[in-house]
Amino acid sequence: MIKAIRGMRDLLPPETARWQWVEQVAREVFALYGYREIRLPLLERTELFARSIGADTDIVSKEMYSFPDRKGESLTLRPEATASVLRAVVENGLDKGGGVKKLYTLGPMFRYERPQKGRYRQFYQINGEAFGVDAPELDAEVILLLLDILQRLQLGEMRLLINSLGCPECQVKFKAALGLFLISREGLCEDCQRRRTTNALRVLDCKSVHCKEILKDAPVIRDYLCADCAAHFARVLELLRRFGVAYEDQPRLVRGLDYYTRTAFEVVAPGLGAQDAVAGGGRYDGLSQQLGGPALPGLGFAIGQDRLLEVLPRELLGRDREYKVFLVALGEAAKEKCLNLLQKLRENNLATEMDFGNRSLKAQISQADRLGAACVIIIGEMELKDGKAQIREMATAYQQPVPFNEVPDHVKWLKDKTLAETNV
Ligand code: AMP
Repeated sequence: MIKAIRGMRDLLPPETARWQWVEQVAREVFALYGYREIRLPLLERTELFARSIGADTDIVSKEMYSFPDRKGESLTLRPEATASVLRAVVENGLDKGGGVKKLYTLGPMFRYERPQKGRYRQFYQINGEAFGVDAPELDAEVILLLLDILQRLQLGEMRLLINSLGCPECQVKFKAALGLFLISREGLCEDCQRRRTTNALRVLDCKSVHCKEILKDAPVIRDYLCADCAAHFARVLELLRRFGVAYEDQPRLVRGLDYYTRTAFEVVAPGLGAQDAVAGGGRYDGLSQQLGGPALPGLGFAIGQDRLLEVLPRELLGRDREYKVFLVALGEAAKEKCLNLLQKLRENNLATEMDFGNRSLKAQISQADRLGAACVIIIGEMELKDGKAQIREMATAYQQPVPFNEVPDHVKWLKDKTLAETNV
């Protein structure tokens, strides 16, 4: 049989119920903060990413799924969402009218990375982006929103790491200092030897252990922040403190994309091992102009949904909240009766299934059990004669006959009782 592509996995039930739950909670919290959904194409012009993420980044230089379309234009499966959101905002005039604009989007991203636990070639992100305001209050609000989502999902242990990457002027000064520091260092990897002249900032997030060692004594951008950037950062931190957010100020934090300015942050979860970043984000005030658009400050974050689901408590979210009913038909005449009842129960908003395979009572009951049915309705020849179905509660195996026309109401009553008892 043909297999799935390396690094691209199938998400299967019952796991998909957890994914839906995460998405539902995220949507609810986004709404609380005034974010509305935007849905975007998965394919964009390659140029969009090359010009935003940066030609020297790992993503653009090694990890993009790019290919020419039938007319020879280079297209890319999106490796991240921010550039597409910004493109869509400007293209559709959503930036008009002033004030802050808040959008969120959910969906798959594609990067040709080496697959390992927590790292896939198709992975999923939950993105929040806010445009139009460069005030530090918005930075704090975006971070509070991100943490609010993670907390409501009951992500236990997590750490917020934060830094300021300054504005382009700070970055020019810092890159010069960093370049000077790097020029005399020996033993940098091949990529970094090139990057120290083309884009020294990129050396800071090199994954090579040796490069990391060399960088321990490198200058930090904090020392090169202009007064405005320093004040912006101080205000963000002050607001985080005011709202009781525990953060770790990390002067060496950088992100793997070139477009970040000022605030940059990451949330790490200790349960994840080597790939411990569950979410990351930051401000990108120059990005719109870089793409040929108007001046449009903004910031956002991306939650890595695959990794998030790795660390969320299983028992809590794995529970299937639905109350399921299963119909067991014994014989052809009973099957006809069950077919009618099946639709009747669904009309009454009861999740109901039956197996059309004419199998034995035992086989059908164990099927019901596998599906997690709370209630099984059995109809055979005897029941047809009496005009009553046997209704069995799976948890207690308590069984009683109920007249056919009373079955929907009886099951509804059972469902309410069970849900009240289990306090779902
Ligand atoms: P980035 O877009 O690189 O800032 O990443 C944001 C988040 O997406 C990270 O913190 C990860 O949780 C997640 N992520 C990035 N790359 C991958 C990948 N290859 N596989 C799974 N999750 C990823």
